[in-house]
Amino acid sequence: MRKDERPREVDADALRRRYALERDKRLRSDGNDQYIQLKGRFAGFLRDPFAERVDRAPRRDHVTATFVGGGFAGLVTGARLKETGIPDVRIVEKAGGFGGTWYWNRYPGAMCDTASMIYLPLLEETGHIPSERYAHAPEIVDHCNRIASQYGLADGALFHTEVTDLEWDARRCAWIVRTDRDDEFTSTFVAIGAGPLHVAKLPGIPGIETFLGHEFHTSRWDYRYTGGTPEGAPMDRLADKRVAIVGTGATAVQCIPHLAAAARQLFVFQRTPSSVDVRDNEPIDPGWFANQATPGWQERWLDNFVANMSVIESPAEDLVCDGWTDLAKRIRGRLAAPRQRPADLAEFLADFENADFEKMSEIRARVEAVVDDPVTAANLKAWYRQLCKRPCFHDEYLSSFNLPSVHLVDTDGKGVERITPSGVVVAGIEYPVDCIIYASGFEVGTEPTRRYGFDMTGRDGVKLSDYWSGGMRSMHGIHVHGFPNAFLVQLGQGGNFIANVPHNLTDAAKTVAAVICHMIRNNFDMVDVTRQAEEAWIAQLIPNPVMTSFLADCTPGYYNNEGQGQSPWSLLVGYQHGAPEYFRYIDRWRASGGFEGLEFS
Ligand code: NDP
Repeated sequence: MRKDERPREVDADALRRRYALERDKRLRSDGNDQYIQLKGRFAGFLRDPFAERVDRAPRRDHVTATFVGGGFAGLVTGARLKETGIPDVRIVEKAGGFGGTWYWNRYPGAMCDTASMIYLPLLEETGHIPSERYAHAPEIVDHCNRIASQYGLADGALFHTEVTDLEWDARRCAWIVRTDRDDEFTSTFVAIGAGPLHVAKLPGIPGIETFLGHEFHTSRWDYRYTGGTPEGAPMDRLADKRVAIVGTGATAVQCIPHLAAAARQLFVFQRTPSSVDVRDNEPIDPGWFANQATPGWQERWLDNFVANMSVIESPAEDLVCDGWTDLAKRIRGRLAAPRQRPADLAEFLADFENADFEKMSEIRARVEAVVDDPVTAANLKAWYRQLCKRPCFHDEYLSSFNLPSVHLVDTDGKGVERITPSGVVVAGIEYPVDCIIYASGFEVGTEPTRRYGFDMTGRDGVKLSDYWSGGMRSMHGIHVHGFPNAFLVQLGQGGNFIANVPHNLTDAAKTVAAVICHMIRNNFDMVDVTRQAEEAWIAQLIPNPVMTSFLADCTPGYYNNEGQGQSPWSLLVGYQHGAPEYFRYIDRWRASGGFEGLEFS
């Protein structure tokens, strides 16, 4: 918003009432239990359609470092460990290659939704110039392979391999790693980067198991059925097909325009509309990039983005300058308005709410401007605050609903009523389809060991699932007391900067490498966080009352544990002073060389 523009007038009371009405409509007592796991009849959904499993002999050796997960977390940590001179870093990955979420999510139109300049890790180290402001999935997978190859991570990697157990062996001062391929090897260090959203889930719709047509989850796109390619070749096999897609979250928003262009008929089953703001993707000009790419540029961009996403920082410029930074800028603009004394909490909350009302009113106005049919447009409007759900940005999603072959089937917050052998039922009407695509997301609020697919046995035989029975406990989201030489590379209890997830991962990778490097240099065998340090860290985390009450008012989704109150595994629990301050704090912690809170022996 320009300084001379007055904010749009909104009827705040009417909006609050509408938001509450829409939330209440969607609240349900079964929370996460409304979803079903991909087991039994649905186990086949998890088959890897992208690579054949290759036979290999079980490993019975020893390595210095093992990383569970070959996505960004494993790649960046592996790269940093290689930089410290560790020759043997073994990545164990259930997929057939590197990429993590980008290996699996090859649905048409998949692209990063924070800017490539900050989303793609190690751009400066690899010298890769992103081709677009928001890179598409094939380029992101290529980049993962580029990192693996540059840092020599491919040779030792074990693909199509799932860790089944990690057990601390005090005598050998190492972890025993067991897998579903009969491997049993030891590793001085282990790290886990399983990804925040990697266990696909299905909606527990009555009759879901009875459908006789074709079906798949978006994270295993079946190009053999649809035709086309992740690179963008049109899905020509859908030309005579009636296709249903269930779900309208961030995944659906990206793939629906492509389905709309290809399918004979497309039925979009919506429970809650996403907020869809302007994307403005464009190619990156290598000349422009060369001007940016002075030494240290990516760190500067990352720091600048995190500062621009915060309402308490005062960055001089906005390098990314997109829809993500817009809301915080509006709030800062309001907070900066002249007043007699600094804003108190109530004024801050009012500024936040007003900026949000204004932003969401613009997003709803955009729906009206783009979508021709007034009923469809009304149903596509999101009635909640922008950060209640992952905000979406897309320039072709809304206009897809102008095609005569595309039908929005809004369920008025209730979800699909039933699935029959031949179609999908909403409000008593059956929509016969040939194929159902589930864009129903991933487990978030469930126990981490369930999502990891294995438990860990630390010192004195303590299981991680028991140690965390009352919720996650860690220092910095990385070190867990009683689990020596083990590290987590993830979002929770750290910087918790979920807008640009890779920032958390690349930063945690630096910590892991710094600690291991310190141990090697000083001939230490074991590192553990002290219980006191872990407790002191937990005391510094949010529950921030602002966040808690904000989420309580939100429409259900994985951000607010499906409206059931904070999950003990919430991704949103982080350093109470905010992400920018966390990144500054942890930089100082690493640089001091004292590694306060850790005990080395
Ligand atoms: P989501 O969990 O965001 O969406 C699931 C969808 O399924 C929601 O629209 C949900 O509705 C709907 N749904 C659930 N149950 C039913 C039902 N019974 N009937 C009808 N609809 C139902 O999953 P996504 O895969 O879309 O996205 C997950 C996350 O992955 C994103 O939030 C984002 O963090 C990440 N992502 C990132 C991308 C990127 O970086 N490029 C791209 C895509 C995803 P309701 O909202 O009512 O629960």
